[in-house]
Amino acid sequence: MNLAIFSTKPYDKEYFEKFKKEYNLKITYYETSLQPNTAKLTKDFEVVCVFVNDTIDKKTINSIAKNGVKLIALRCAGFNNVDLEACEKNNIKVVRVPAYSPEAVAEHAMALILTLNRKTHKAYNRVREGNFSLTNLIGFNLNKKVVGVVGTGKIGAAFCNIAKGFGCEVLAYDINKSEQLEEKGVQYVSLDELFNKSDVISLHCPLNEHTKHIVDKNSIAKMKKGVLLVNTSRGALINTKDVIAGLKSKKIAFLGIDVYEQEENLFFNDLSESIIKDDLLMRLNSFPNVLITSHQAFFTKEAMTEITTTTLNNIQEFINNEELTNEVKL
Ligand code: NAD
Repeated sequence: MNLAIFSTKPYDKEYFEKFKKEYNLKITYYETSLQPNTAKLTKDFEVVCVFVNDTIDKKTINSIAKNGVKLIALRCAGFNNVDLEACEKNNIKVVRVPAYSPEAVAEHAMALILTLNRKTHKAYNRVREGNFSLTNLIGFNLNKKVVGVVGTGKIGAAFCNIAKGFGCEVLAYDINKSEQLEEKGVQYVSLDELFNKSDVISLHCPLNEHTKHIVDKNSIAKMKKGVLLVNTSRGALINTKDVIAGLKSKKIAFLGIDVYEQEENLFFNDLSESIIKDDLLMRLNSFPNVLITSHQAFFTKEAMTEITTTTLNNIQEFINNEELTNEVKL
């Protein structure tokens, strides 16, 4: 079967080449993303494999359906970039990798918190320049601080465990409570109470119509002054303009983001010689207390292995006409 992989980076190719041997697949790698104006590249392919920033909207889906695509294999967990209704209408199935390494993302969220708080990125540069001063490097103990976790699914649960390990008091908000986490001492509260009481807030819920801009000027108003906010989930959980206002007023003392609402044409690319036109991102980048990483929370060897093997298994199930274990349905 012919498989087209879009948004291919060298590491994607490395992992697919490593694991493809047991599968009867002819793989074509495209560096470009899949979007309406690249959909023509799917001619002769029954399966396309895409990532978080491909645009799988109605227009793309109508075009790829005409080209004979029958399966979209997402090599990620989130599926907010796919119009599932259009897929169903065109008889295209969608599969994903529901969990590849929740710990990878949770550990990265904690890395952002520790870096922002203890300023290790600044200390590294200072010491390399022979500056051994501690001025302005002061942080705070995480031990006994209140950490609020929004979304306690696989990643949120892993993050709760890490925060517990640091001796934090963990508050959580989720539309579904986890008894196991409650047994470990995680306390479920309302979203307002979480915003109100947390010293650190970490977002781990999916992006959907209920969670879009869950952090906006109204929720920021409810937060503690000096809050440390981290988003490793999806950019649009945060209203960037409102967060910039929160940083300017010092209500938000630290912001760590691995995702950004307008990341599609920026993240995963080397734009170091380009003029970046996104003024909101550049404003964020100008704050001394903001740390941005480029959607790398998932990026560990363990997660890449799981992503690749699960994607190949998902495709194999489709080829074999078997039930699709990881199908995404409307
Ligand atoms: P999951 O499905 O296991 O957990 C999501 C949790 O959010 C569930 O417990 C669900 O009940 C809860 N939830 C749903 N709607 C909610 C709402 N309105 N308010 C509060 N909670 C709500 O998903 P996961 O594997 O933990 O992943 C979470 C998100 O992390 C994904 O949707 C994805 O966007 C993001 N992610 C980011 C990266 C990265 O590299 N930065 C990697 C993987 C996943």
